[in-house]
Amino acid sequence: CGIVGYVGHRPALDVVLNGLRRLEYRGYDSAGVALADGAGGLAVERAAGALANLEKRLGEVDGDRFAGTSGMGHTRWATHGAPTDRNAHPHRDAAGAVAVVHNGIIENFAALRAELEAAGVEMASDTDTETAAHLVAAAYADGPTAGDLTASTCAVARRLEGAFTLVVTHAAEPDRIVAARRSSPLVVGVGEGEHFVASDVAAFIEHTREAVELGQDQVVTITGDGYRVTDFTGAEVAAKPFTVNWDL
Ligand code: GLU
Repeated sequence: CGIVGYVGHRPALDVVLNGLRRLEYRGYDSAGVALADGAGGLAVERAAGALANLEKRLGEVDGDRFAGTSGMGHTRWATHGAPTDRNAHPHRDAAGAVAVVHNGIIENFAALRAELEAAGVEMASDTDTETAAHLVAAAYADGPTAGDLTASTCAVARRLEGAFTLVVTHAAEPDRIVAARRSSPLVVGVGEGEHFVASDVAAFIEHTREAVELGQDQVVTITGDGYRVTDFTGAEVAAKPFTVNWDL
């Protein structure tokens, strides 16, 4: 339902939680975050219910693991699977190397899930979203897109049917976030030494008014230093920057 991703120089947890709070008006049933943990892994926390439940849980865990400057967050409006902790986003692959958050519905998830299960993958949730985490992990591990998170995300996006905004991170590339969209909104926030992705500019308006709207079937890769937009084949496309001119 609500999505925020951040790569920059501030503590990402604050940026992400503040962004999610600004998207709360849309309604949601669970929330979660994933951050680069500074030790080659991802720190993930999720909770059914209000953002306050997630924040309470974050207050009880080792804060050092959540002190990184890149990460993503999600507020979920369940379509596949009950609104429980285990179905809350982010979802991960079995090794915990990839984390994804997703808005929308992956229409062909049953076929993708069957394919993954036939390959020996054990699902940890009832969501359509989790399939994307396993597929990105596999695409990144092996084959023509190995070691390239943008190309891996493009390859998976081409296989997904339905409406989605998908945000992806990989523990091996802690300073990079990749996001893809089809028939579901995605905007980039352009700051100085920091970049954002979000389902709505409201999520980052307190930090920057410089934004880029992604077109249909496009992918953006953000780092602290910049952003790059491609189509689902990986071909670079011209970005459409605009300035948000609302009053706060
Ligand atoms: N279909 C996904 C789920 O049920 C995402 C729902 C959303 O847009 O929040 O988990």
